[in-house]
Amino acid sequence: MPYFKADYVYPVSSAPMRNAVVHTNEQGQIISVLDESASQAIESSEIAVFNGMITPGFVNAHCHLELSHLLNKMPEHTGLVGFIKHLQQIRNNDSALIEEAAIEHQQAMYEAGIVAVGDICNSTHSLRAKQKGMLHYHNFIELFAFNPDKASESLKHGEQLLAAYKNLHGEKQYFNASITPHAPYSTSHALVQMIAEHASNKGMPLSIHNQESKEELSMYLSGSGAFIQMLYDFGINTAHWKTNAAGSMLSIAALINRQTKMLWVHNTYTSKEELQSVLNMLPHSYFCLCPNANLYIENTLPDLSMMMAFKEHVCLGTDSLASNHSLSILSEMQTIYKAFKIDFEALLRWATLNGAKALGFEEKIGSIEPGKTPGLNVIIGTPSGFDENSSVKRLL
Ligand SMILES: [Zn+2]
Repeated sequence: MPYFKADYVYPVSSAPMRNAVVHTNEQGQIISVLDESASQAIESSEIAVFNGMITPGFVNAHCHLELSHLLNKMPEHTGLVGFIKHLQQIRNNDSALIEEAAIEHQQAMYEAGIVAVGDICNSTHSLRAKQKGMLHYHNFIELFAFNPDKASESLKHGEQLLAAYKNLHGEKQYFNASITPHAPYSTSHALVQMIAEHASNKGMPLSIHNQESKEELSMYLSGSGAFIQMLYDFGINTAHWKTNAAGSMLSIAALINRQTKMLWVHNTYTSKEELQSVLNMLPHSYFCLCPNANLYIENTLPDLSMMMAFKEHVCLGTDSLASNHSLSILSEMQTIYKAFKIDFEALLRWATLNGAKALGFEEKIGSIEPGKTPGLNVIIGTPSGFDENSSVKRLL
């Protein structure tokens, strides 16, 4: 049925409308949003009516689909260093099992109303799932090499992986890819610079895990601490490492071209001054929050009250099932709502349009506007009643 009505329609690009009707064509493209009086002209038998709020499809701006087989395999509250060490121990090389888990949880994302994903790739294990063409993807081909001498070798590996992803083209779906650094504690500045200047990344977003733990700060400011010890324990030469008073985020930002769209993921220990300075340096920055993963690993959350000053740059991600119980953007919204009581309209914008902008997908998705094909969800509940009990049903 091409007409969808609910108590509220949230186009996101404009104000919410009570008792409005969304008109789409058979391909799910938005034709118009009719207010209550304009919708009187439509035969009521033509309209599918729902209790709740119609929203655009969700955007999961940070995920690792290829880690879906690690659901319920990792202990909680270990801190990031403990998490990484544990992850190294339980690495699984059973490709069929990893690929099947990616397919299963891609389906779960689809059913949870997610239409697009910014997905971190260290392998080709997620390709089989992605070939199904169910979701839009920006594939972040992620590299890490702490030793600057290994930067060229790492980049070569990234180029090979990128080629595998470039071979796959979406017809109806976005399917883009760029080479990207993992984190300031795992990727040398030499490698970050090579990635920033890589020809294939022109016009593409980059991403980096940023200040997910306090140890990142001590590594940059004092030159020692748990990360340096961890790298040493992994047999990685850390002799070249020097302190850097600017801290990790601003040191990395200084290596990136000003026009680049940059997704900073987590930002759990990032200060207001750093966020402001980064926006001055890289105005196309997005701050991607993964609150459920932060609770899972570090049992803490970024200061969302402070981040409201930058709310036009905030988007949401689930991170992986190694550090989350589900790949659900609604669940991330509920975690933030529970802790900070952020208003629903802002949360929804983070979950839709801002994620679409962060991935460069805003021409097609992220808001209910004529000509777009954003997918449609209905969230059961009223705006004042949005809470942990709200649920989502995918309409398109
Ligand atoms: Zn991640």
